[in-house]
Amino acid sequence: MTAHYTIGIDLGGTNIKGGVLDASGTLVHRRSIETQAEHGFEHVFARLVRLVEDLIRGAGLAKSDVAAIGYGTPGPLSHKKGIVYASANLPGWKNIPLRERFSAATELPVTLDNDANVAAFGEFVAGAGRGVRDMVMLTLGTGIGGGVIVNGELVRGALENAAEIGHMIAVPDGRPCPCGQRGCLERYGSANAIAERLVEAVQAGEDSSLKVRLDAGETITSVQVAQAARAGDALALRIWDETCYYLAIGCVSLQHILNPARVVLAGGLIGAGQQLLGPVRDHFHRETWRLAEDFPQIELAALGSDAGVIGAATLARIEQRKESPH
Ligand SMILES: [Zn+2]
Repeated sequence: MTAHYTIGIDLGGTNIKGGVLDASGTLVHRRSIETQAEHGFEHVFARLVRLVEDLIRGAGLAKSDVAAIGYGTPGPLSHKKGIVYASANLPGWKNIPLRERFSAATELPVTLDNDANVAAFGEFVAGAGRGVRDMVMLTLGTGIGGGVIVNGELVRGALENAAEIGHMIAVPDGRPCPCGQRGCLERYGSANAIAERLVEAVQAGEDSSLKVRLDAGETITSVQVAQAARAGDALALRIWDETCYYLAIGCVSLQHILNPARVVLAGGLIGAGQQLLGPVRDHFHRETWRLAEDFPQIELAALGSDAGVIGAATLARIEQRKESPH
């Protein structure tokens, strides 16, 4: 009997999400557990293996019903070699032959990709990218993650590090980035960058309704900056608008390199909804060229936290078909 199901796993610093996709690509069962990253690699790995067993049992399946596991994880990593070189927020993850280990422990084929890529692929097949062949996704959170799909396929790059959109330089000689460059897009357009820039401006003497919270020792978040902007706070409004401007010029660069049909914005920052999307679209149309009307549609992601699981499981299915075409 042919195995009709695939499992998707999305590993994050806080939670591990897992799901089971049926042959039609529908998510039929899902489960989320804590990562417990502080206990190191072997502990997290044992949790991963148990999660796969629980998913199979929870969906009422046998192992023989499952064709493969797709696994999304923070990188850098090699999809081709199946190795995770390192992972931010995951202590002890260094040069792990994860595909081999995970496959041996579960007795199932495993495919490995970075978390931003699998989330983008999930949106592409089942969310905001449906109906197009060329899509770029920007995940706006702590930093900016990226995923690029060209002609229906995920672009991984010659050295498997494509789509690091957050590290495109938006401002020459700009704000330093932990990656070692200056002026990276994620230092201006991520959720963290919004909060940081507001705090710096207040510390430099600018006035804001958020100053009292800052003086009380509170941590300022992008959600608070968004609220303050909606309430008319001049500094919050300026920083929010600048953020939308930087994201828009990032979209212009992506338009000219890739000519995507759609640019999808995802991640925590899209909780602001139209407050984000409206100005990004407005700035985009002010800043882009006039030579052709080859503009991407700019949209918000639709799948929320299911995107990674759906994308990982779908990529595993594609990989299986390549290896056993009959
Ligand atoms: Zn950078």
